[in-house]
Amino acid sequence: MAHDQRRHFDPLHQLVKTQYGSESGAYCDICLSKLDGLVGHRCSACNIDLHDACAGFFKETTSFFAHPWHTLKLSRIPHPSASSPFWWYCNLCLEVCPPGSFMYRCTQCLFDVHPLCTMLPQTIRSPLHPEHDLRMVPSSGDCSACKQSLPVWHYVCPCAVRLHIDCASGAPATSCNSNTAGRPRRRTAVAKFLLKTSFRIAVDAATGGLGSPVLDVLAAVFKS
Ligand SMILES: [Zn+2]
Ligand SMILES: [Zn+2]
Ligand SMILES: [Zn+2]
Ligand SMILES: [Zn+2]
Ligand SMILES: [Zn+2]
Ligand SMILES: [Zn+2]
Repeated sequence: MAHDQRRHFDPLHQLVKTQYGSESGAYCDICLSKLDGLVGHRCSACNIDLHDACAGFFKETTSFFAHPWHTLKLSRIPHPSASSPFWWYCNLCLEVCPPGSFMYRCTQCLFDVHPLCTMLPQTIRSPLHPEHDLRMVPSSGDCSACKQSLPVWHYVCPCAVRLHIDCASGAPATSCNSNTAGRPRRRTAVAKFLLKTSFRIAVDAATGGLGSPVLDVLAAVFKS
């Protein structure tokens, strides 16, 4: 490829193309999935590891429908410290952002979102509600499928059907009904959502096909 020498942004270090061993235990700091057996890019000074696909697809800045007011910047989540003892959460899926990982951030508004969550289509057609389009909007209420409370951002139909990201894919986890602790990790739910054939078409369309390599990585990680 023409641009094997990737850099990361802050500071501008050169990333080193790396073949990860099958038991490297390394995780991509953008999509948070394993790098075992794959080619990626590493900055050992900053302890950054990235899939080739993630380093290529996710740009330094992005615009996102859930925060249209400002450009979001791909930046690392700081480790909690005495002066800033905070954990950061994704505004979309509400899962924690691991310190050291990359999120798209608006530091002015304290809006943070996982890079993968920015790939969620704003409009989908769910197998649980095939009659109408559902839109990702800020709202409140309980999920029409699993009856549990919803995060602020979820898929809503004007006819009052509202669904979790994972429930919208039509395969709510069996643990959905018991308690939230039994719920699959949400970013796993997001990855599986993005890989659903019908949604994958929407993601490909929204990214002009450029997101496909990222989805291929996720497909490989979650195939088992
Ligand atoms: Zn990745
Ligand atoms: Zn670095
Ligand atoms: Zn998220
Ligand atoms: Zn903002
Ligand atoms: Zn639900
Ligand atoms: Zn409807």
